[in-house]
Amino acid sequence: MDAKANTQICLSLSPMSDDDTEVPSSSVFLIVVNGGIPGTMLRVDSVGTTVGRSAESSHQILDATVSRRHAMFLVDAKGGVHVTDLGSTNGTYVEGDRLTPGTPRRLADGERVQLGRTVVVKVVHLDPNDEKFHRELYERTVRDPLTALYNRSYFLAQLASVANRATSGGMGLAVMMLDVDHFKQVNDQYGHVSGDQVLREIAEVLRESTRAEDLVARYGGEEFVAALPVRAPDIAAERAERIRQNIANRQVALADTLLHVTASLGLVYTPPGVRRSDSQLIMMADQALYEAKSEGRDRVVFARQTSERVSSRTETAEIAIYLSTGHEAHGPTAKGRI
Ligand code: GH3
Ligand code: MG
Ligand code: MG
Repeated sequence: MDAKANTQICLSLSPMSDDDTEVPSSSVFLIVVNGGIPGTMLRVDSVGTTVGRSAESSHQILDATVSRRHAMFLVDAKGGVHVTDLGSTNGTYVEGDRLTPGTPRRLADGERVQLGRTVVVKVVHLDPNDEKFHRELYERTVRDPLTALYNRSYFLAQLASVANRATSGGMGLAVMMLDVDHFKQVNDQYGHVSGDQVLREIAEVLRESTRAEDLVARYGGEEFVAALPVRAPDIAAERAERIRQNIANRQVALADTLLHVTASLGLVYTPPGVRRSDSQLIMMADQALYEAKSEGRDRVVFARQTSERVSSRTETAEIAIYLSTGHEAHGPTAKGRI
């Protein structure tokens, strides 16, 4: 994982609204300049915007040196911005000065605030045009241009946040790795442009089959990944199976043919309270995906711990069980041709 993934700053997982009618003449934002993903925009409002590690914060910042309730930002009636340290352990600093807890400090436009040891935000007033510009720049850094899904680095940066939110809602977390079957054949038979179209369709199926609280990304090439907060492993399995079916049933309309593709899915589920690192989750989902491929493709394979391992929280040998199988192994099929 890259260095910037050490701090997670949680955002709404759906893209910000493009509806300019909702935006007042000038809005106040904290722009992340260090820690988390640079360029992240955190809106500040007039009733008090809290930042901290707690899921109850207006903006959750998962950095070890940020306190659960760290600081509050506020816009007054004249548009002035104030920050108050909420008694944080590692302090809130403005231009190098540590703030006295509970005493508001007025911030000039462009001034930087350090939260704990790593996270630095800059306060800015943005008119709708500037806001749109910043948002577009930010979207470019976190999204895959072909599919408009989130990219891999954003997924890795946000996975712990999604897990954290799931736990505070009493939910477990499923991680699903998906790889298109025999995708090279699509490129070879129909060309790279058609291959790209298939990837966009798969992304569309994923968008249609997931919810706002899920985190879905293109992991790379013809691989996709999703983190799904769910209550139980069978729900995770049902959802992965539905995604598999939706992909298998999707017709991709190419210039002169209708193409069908299938995908293999590897799935792992972590119950609430059982801690696993991001890399363990991804590795386990990836291993299950590998099993799905080697057992014939177009299927979901669930990697899960045995019951004693769940209780002992060890992470070593895993068992893989098959939840569903599709058809016999096959490559992409053009309707009526194969
Ligand atoms: P398997 O069922 O084992 O996954 O086989 P596969 O053919 O899907 O896997 P393989 O790794 O052999 O081939 C993946 C291909 O995906 C090779 C690569 O050129 C193609 N690919 C990766 N990214 C893109 C892309 O953005 N667009 C297109 N059109 N092709 C891509
Ligand atoms: Mg692949
Ligand atoms: Mg593949």
